[in-house]
Amino acid sequence: MAGKRYLFTPGPTPVPPPVLQALAEPVVHHRGPDFRPVLARCLDRLKQVFRTSSDVLLFTASGTGAMESAVANLCSPGNRVVVVSAGYFGDRWIEIAERYGCQVEAVRYAWGEVPSADDVAERLAELGGARAVFLTQSETSTGVVCDVEALAAAARPSGAHVVVDAVSSLGAVPLEMDAWGVDVACSGSQKALMAPPGLAMAAVSEAVWEAEGRGSSPRYYLDWERARRAQEKMETAFTPAVPLVKALDVALGLLLEGGLEAAFDRHVRLGRACRAGIKAMGLELFSPDDDSSAVVTAVRTPAGIDSSELVLALRERHGVQVAGGHGPLRGKVFRIGHIGHYDVFDIATALAAVELTLVDLGADIERGVAVAHALRAYGQGVSV
Ligand code: PMP
Repeated sequence: MAGKRYLFTPGPTPVPPPVLQALAEPVVHHRGPDFRPVLARCLDRLKQVFRTSSDVLLFTASGTGAMESAVANLCSPGNRVVVVSAGYFGDRWIEIAERYGCQVEAVRYAWGEVPSADDVAERLAELGGARAVFLTQSETSTGVVCDVEALAAAARPSGAHVVVDAVSSLGAVPLEMDAWGVDVACSGSQKALMAPPGLAMAAVSEAVWEAEGRGSSPRYYLDWERARRAQEKMETAFTPAVPLVKALDVALGLLLEGGLEAAFDRHVRLGRACRAGIKAMGLELFSPDDDSSAVVTAVRTPAGIDSSELVLALRERHGVQVAGGHGPLRGKVFRIGHIGHYDVFDIATALAAVELTLVDLGADIERGVAVAHALRAYGQGVSV
């Protein structure tokens, strides 16, 4: 089976066959009746997934494009903004906001810590408010999924816009944009939405469209007003990645047909299964050992084994792709993503390959324990 590949990274993620089929359809023109119904349906489905009645703006970009659009459209140079950061992607908000000339006040945590609503409320009170508060729902570098509802509730009384990076979490864990008072939520196509990389979304609440809602930073391709005006005519401002929009539409259809609640429940159980298998091998979890950790499981490699070496060996020997560690976790942790088109057999495959490879690299692990524990944990609490 030379060449067989298994994709177990927290993005991009495997794409279901009907979505792949959509990619193979002839390209149609993007301003006309061949494309309009696809775009209309896709945008409507996105609203359902973000749980918002507001517009979801679609960009041909990766998730970072949506994040940059949030800073570029909300902020003016010199604005004070608060960024809650507990890892690599929280730090990305800091970098973008600094590039746009914002005065960034970071609420920083050690990588792996869980941000607290009290800390955010306290910092905002000390500062006397901020233009915006930037959050990362699922910090993909550590496996921590934070409590966006509580953090948004802590930030809102200050009058700051609440902006959420939901790139790796949307469709995997609950995000109630309207009910939780989130002003902007950003995501990308290649994670739990089960489509290939290349599309970014920014869901923008009505509060932001009101007067004073936006800032004066320069922007062109990512300008929200331009995007919204185009979408009102059921077009995009610029030529979109037509095949990707078709693919995303099909993927969202699958997600909604199965139901978001069912998807959230499956992700919780995939997380449980993965953690159970990891612990059965005697490995130490880096990500939290609870059901909040439903997106990616981060694991410390045993003493003496470099996680980058493990990642490479998994790919070369077994065609299994997992992710290594970012920044300070490089060489120390590996990460198994379980978002989107995954089932328990994917987890079992990933764990079996990790077990085999770690043993080859010299770890002392009883063979076969990981899969048995994972399958059992996946069934927990479920009547079959
Ligand atoms: N935020 C989070 C939480 C992510 O996981 C990622 C992708 N790993 C990004 C932002 C950046 O997305 P992209 O690579 O699509 O720009």
